[in-house]
Amino acid sequence: MDRHAELAEDCRVRSRLSAGRYVYPVRSLTILAALLLLVACQRQELTPAQRLAAETSPSGVKVLLVGIDGATFSVLDPLLEAGELPVMADLIQQGARGVLESRKPSRSPALWTTIATGKSPREHGVKNFKLPPVDSDKRRPVLVSSIHRQSLALWNMLGPFGLQVGFLGWWVTWPAEPVNGWIVSDRVTHSRWIDWAGGFKDESLTFPPELANEVRGLVVDPNDPPMDEIDQLVELSDEERSELIASTRPIYGHWLSVFKFGYCSQRSYEKMALQLLDKGQPDLVGLFLIANDPICHTFWHFYQPEKYTGVEGEQAKRLGQLIPNFQRHNDRFLAQVLSKVDPDTVVMLISDHGFRASKRIPTPEEVEKYANRFDQMWEGAEEEGVVAVGQSGRHTLHGILIAAGGPIRKGVKTKAHLYDIAPTVLALLGLPVPEDMPGRVLEDIIEPEFLEQHPIRTIDSYESYLELPRVAIADETPDEEALEMLRSLGYIQ
Ligand SMILES: [Zn+2]
Repeated sequence: MDRHAELAEDCRVRSRLSAGRYVYPVRSLTILAALLLLVACQRQELTPAQRLAAETSPSGVKVLLVGIDGATFSVLDPLLEAGELPVMADLIQQGARGVLESRKPSRSPALWTTIATGKSPREHGVKNFKLPPVDSDKRRPVLVSSIHRQSLALWNMLGPFGLQVGFLGWWVTWPAEPVNGWIVSDRVTHSRWIDWAGGFKDESLTFPPELANEVRGLVVDPNDPPMDEIDQLVELSDEERSELIASTRPIYGHWLSVFKFGYCSQRSYEKMALQLLDKGQPDLVGLFLIANDPICHTFWHFYQPEKYTGVEGEQAKRLGQLIPNFQRHNDRFLAQVLSKVDPDTVVMLISDHGFRASKRIPTPEEVEKYANRFDQMWEGAEEEGVVAVGQSGRHTLHGILIAAGGPIRKGVKTKAHLYDIAPTVLALLGLPVPEDMPGRVLEDIIEPEFLEQHPIRTIDSYESYLELPRVAIADETPDEEALEMLRSLGYIQ
C-alpha cells in the first residue's frame, strides 16, 4: 500500500472508531463529530516532504561511508601490493576503486561538508575552519559549526523517507542536529582545531542528547594515552616517548603532540562506532577517521626522508614506519566494523584529499613561536591559504574512493569527484537525486540491473521539500549584527 492509500485508510479507521465508540449515549453528537473528522481527513494536506516520500520507494540497500582524512593511493598501493591491507584489498577486488578528485582550497571542514551535502563550499557556506570573531574576545575566532551550514546534509535527507542515519565524528556536525537516528558530533573529543580555537563543548554533543552520556565514557584521554597501542604503531626513543606523554595539548608542527591528540581522538570514535553498531545498523552510516591527516602532515619527512635535507637516518627509519603502520591500523579497524554490518552493505571508503611531501620541515623556532601564540599560528596559516604551512606533508587533490558490496560492480576502475558521493549514496538508497547537486551518480560502478529496478529519479532540490534544522547555541549563535558582518564578508549568503 502506498503512503496515500495508507493515509486514506488511517482516516477511514479513525472515522470508524469514533463513529462506533460512543454510539449509544450521544448518537447524534457522535455522528456529527465523525462527519467533521471525515471532512478534516479528506482535507488533510500532505506536506511537500510527505508527498515526496509517498512517491518514493527506497531500495532497501544500506550504505556505510567511511571517511579517512587524507587517505592517498600513493601510500596505500605499496601496502596493498604487499598484501598488508587485506580488508581494503578485498573491497577493491570485490568492487570498484578510483581517484576521488578534490577541490581547492583544501580545507577539511569545507571538503567533508561538500561530501555530505553534494554542494560547493560557496553554496553550503562552510568554507574554512573558522569564521571571523563574533564574540567579545575579538582575538579568538569561532570554529565553524553546523549552525553555519546553509545546505541540507545527507543526515537531514533520509528521515522523511523513514530511513535511519548514524553519523560519527564527521567534520562540522556540532551542534548535533535532530535526525532520524543518531549523530555523535565532532566536538566530543579534543582535536587540533578544537583545542587551538577553544572549541571544546559540553552541550548538543550528540543527537539524541542523552547519547552523550553513553559515548563520553569511551573517550580516550590524551593525558593518559594508550602507550601499549602507540608502541605498536611507532618505535619512539625514551626521550620522544616522555615528550609525547608529557604534551598537554597539540602544538602546531610538533609531531609528537599532534600525533597523540589525533590518535586519541580517532580511537575514541572507533570505540563509539563499534558500540553503536552493536545496537543496530542505520540505513546510512557515516564514520569519520581523523588521525591519518595530522600524522601525514607531521611525519612525512620521516616517511620519505630522501625528499628533505637534514632528516637523520636512524630516526627516519624508526618514525617513518608510523604512516604505513597507521594504514594497517585503519585496515584492522575496518575489519571490526565490517563484522558488525549486514554483508550486503555497500561500503564506501573515501578521503577528502591526498598527501605528498611538502619538502619543508618546520624549524624548531617556528614550533616554539607557535607553541604559545595560537593567534600568530592561525594568521600564518591563513596568509598562505593552507593549513599545512611549514608542515612536512601537504595535501594533494587526489583522494581515494573504494566501493564494494550490494549492487556495486566487481573489478571496476572509476574516476570520481567529491561532488559525486552524495548523489551516488542517494541513488543507492533509492531516493531522489536533486538537480542542484553538481555531481553525478557514479552509474559506472553500479550493476545495470539495480539501475533498471531503481531508476534514478530527479527532483529540483531537497531544499524545496525540507527545512534546514537550526540548533540554538547560547554563546555561538551569531546575533543580527554579527550575521550582517559575515554576510558582508561573503561567509554566508
Ligand atoms: Zn590536513
